[in-house]
Amino acid sequence: MTAASELRPVIVGAGPAGVRAAQTLVAHGLRPVVIDEASRAGGQIYRRPPAGLAQRSVRTLYGFESKRADAVHAAFDALQGRIDHHSDSLVWNAQDHRLDVMHNPTRSNRRVPYSHLIVATGATDRVLPVPGWTLPGVYTLGGAQVALKFQGCAIGQRVVFMGTGPLLYLVAYQYAKAGVKVAAVLDTARLADQLAATPALLTQPTVFAKGVYYVGWLRAHGVPLHSGVRPLRVLGDDRQSRVTGVAWQDGSEERTLACDAIGFGYALRSETQLADLLGCRFDYAPLHRAHLPVRDAAGRSSVEGVYLAGDGAGIMGADAAEWAGERAALALLADNGVAVDTARAAELERRLHKLVGFRQGLERAFPVPQDWAAHAPDDLVVCRCENVTAGTLRQAVATTGADELNRLKALSRVGMGRCQGRMCGVAAAEILAHATQKPLQQIGRLRGQAPIKPIPIRLVQAPEGSGA
Ligand SMILES: Cc1cc2nc3c(=O)[nH]c(=O)nc-3n(C[C@H](O)[C@H](O)[C@H](O)COP(=O)(O)OP(=O)(O)OC[C@H]3O[C@@H](n4cnc5c(N)ncnc54)[C@H](O)[C@@H]3O)c2cc1C
Repeated sequence: MTAASELRPVIVGAGPAGVRAAQTLVAHGLRPVVIDEASRAGGQIYRRPPAGLAQRSVRTLYGFESKRADAVHAAFDALQGRIDHHSDSLVWNAQDHRLDVMHNPTRSNRRVPYSHLIVATGATDRVLPVPGWTLPGVYTLGGAQVALKFQGCAIGQRVVFMGTGPLLYLVAYQYAKAGVKVAAVLDTARLADQLAATPALLTQPTVFAKGVYYVGWLRAHGVPLHSGVRPLRVLGDDRQSRVTGVAWQDGSEERTLACDAIGFGYALRSETQLADLLGCRFDYAPLHRAHLPVRDAAGRSSVEGVYLAGDGAGIMGADAAEWAGERAALALLADNGVAVDTARAAELERRLHKLVGFRQGLERAFPVPQDWAAHAPDDLVVCRCENVTAGTLRQAVATTGADELNRLKALSRVGMGRCQGRMCGVAAAEILAHATQKPLQQIGRLRGQAPIKPIPIRLVQAPEGSGA
């Protein structure tokens, strides 16, 4: 066992999970390294605008979550001088007790060794494309929110939000509150789904009440809300140079609406690439409709010394991320002989466990459209980096019998471009599962590859010599 003073724990991610993990390690006398590609801590939900941008109040930025945002920011700020914070720094590779980290502003690399690692990398949007989604003016829901929260600007002046999930109504509400014309909210989930999920959602009454408030506020302010729809296509101008509207199926009727921007998404997917590079075991998690790195109730992965916390190992939300970050740090400490408050650890596990019912309720209320792949036309671009269409994927399946996602990647180049499958992986898996009539569980997942995000080629060729 390593003496606690010799531990060099590294935390990747300074969202709610990473911040609470760092705070817990510091409280036990350790000095962790915290690495985040963002310039300021806070993660996605509590993302802070860049220093120097005209400051909007915490209340304006985070609404109901402003107290929690304040608390997480204050907790992190209080750690200064007791942690090593590498901001603006992307971990693009992870192996053998060291991380390759690119400092974004200088495009330089440094190798960061670690004795123990807490991976708290969060999530991104789950994207199921619709014809026309590559037109300028189409954003993911998360992207639309980041524009508002981080840069203080809107994606358009007359915006449609579509897809499903709690973020759909939240982002629509935030835009409307900010004075943007929200032309409509198009939800693929049916009202009946949401009603059926109510008992499970009521296990977290405050969160449920917030959701009801957003919907009620949008209705009261005249924003048209349509549920049970099927997005058909994004409409563009003659030169296809920008969005001019959207078409969708509402029952037997096809409807269109003019707009100059669209935010769309189907809830979130975990950022699992680092866990993959580290060799963590993955299992299919039906609740998340995804293959996820396995963690025990405390956050231990299958790899000794590697811990997983927050949305990066399954979408559970910001409160859960805080608890999971603290719990993973306590596990790291206990595994190295540091005395920890076991009652607190048990309490955190109890809280996390209690959220599972609510999470199931969310899946029921906002299910991913099961028929998306069946309706995806052959000319739909699935992978925009490599310009791979649904038809190309189906053709590859038909001619080669490919029934595993990495095989399909090798044959079609889907997921081989800049995003490394982070945007198109979900859709490609759905197309493959539908084409082979196999469950998602069986068709596998795209394996993570370094660099997990684009970096200058010279850093891959000579990472050691290009240290910051
Ligand atoms: C775009 C977006 C908007 C959201 N908005 C809301 C909202 O308004 N309300 C709500 O309730 N929930 C929202 N969520 C969900 C919510 O953010 C999460 O539930 C919560 O933040 C999870 O906390 P976390 O610490 O696990 O991850 P995050 O908060 O996502 O933090 C992860 C951090 O890791 C960093 N990171 C990831 N990979 C790397 C890497 N390779 N190298 C360096 N740094 C890395 C990221 O920069 C990020 O700061 C949103 C999610 C997304 C993706």
